[in-house]
Amino acid sequence: MAWSDLPGLATILDLLCPPRCGFCGADVAEGRPGGGLSCEPCAAAFSRDVTRCGLCGEPAEGDGGCRRCRGRRRDWDGLAVLSSYGDDVREQVLRAKRPAGEAVAAALAGLLVRKHRESFADWRIDVVAPVPMHWRRRLARGTSAADQLAAAVARGLGLPMRRLLRRRRATPMQNELPFEDRRGNVRAAFRATRRVAGLRVLLVDDVATTGATLAECRGTLVEAGAAAVYAAVIARADRGSGTDPFR
Ligand SMILES: [Zn+2]
Ligand SMILES: [Zn+2]
Repeated sequence: MAWSDLPGLATILDLLCPPRCGFCGADVAEGRPGGGLSCEPCAAAFSRDVTRCGLCGEPAEGDGGCRRCRGRRRDWDGLAVLSSYGDDVREQVLRAKRPAGEAVAAALAGLLVRKHRESFADWRIDVVAPVPMHWRRRLARGTSAADQLAAAVARGLGLPMRRLLRRRRATPMQNELPFEDRRGNVRAAFRATRRVAGLRVLLVDDVATTGATLAECRGTLVEAGAAAVYAAVIARADRGSGTDPFR
């Protein structure tokens, strides 16, 4: 029997530390399934987005379809996006990266799970995996936002989180490079750390712009035998939107 199954314990814990919004600290009535708490105003603010193509994650056209994806090889099997990369979301993503950013990461992941629960169910995911950060960068930062987000998404979906990929080499940050150089920058940058044969994987990262990093991760997992690779990101920085994208 787990601690959380003990009758009344959840209530006592709620009294000792009432559930609070991970973004603004406001009291929230109750936790949502999957954890990651947010008040309604924050949830609305940070889930705001344009209608997107569920395959490539680019803004959709009038009919909800996407010309880019018609009859073209795609870089991944589906992409779930929480929000456009506006200043308010950018601030939360930066907060989530800081060492004490777990509550913010969990709140962002909770919104992502809530928004795309149906897609995640349709995709029949077996395992959730973070886009890896090179160990040296991780050591310097003490945390990886992708790890925290992936762990929280996995909790929300009731699935395991595994670090399935490792960086072979440290690459310059994608946001320091022009768009056209990004794919080359991450080419062959990853390797699979374990067997993924037959698995349906959900890759998680904080921000995607060109999607070059996600595409390279997917290629590596497919080569290692993954049956399908989907991706979920907190924010999609659209090309030419004037935002300062991460990757
Ligand atoms: Zn709030
Ligand atoms: Zn598309």
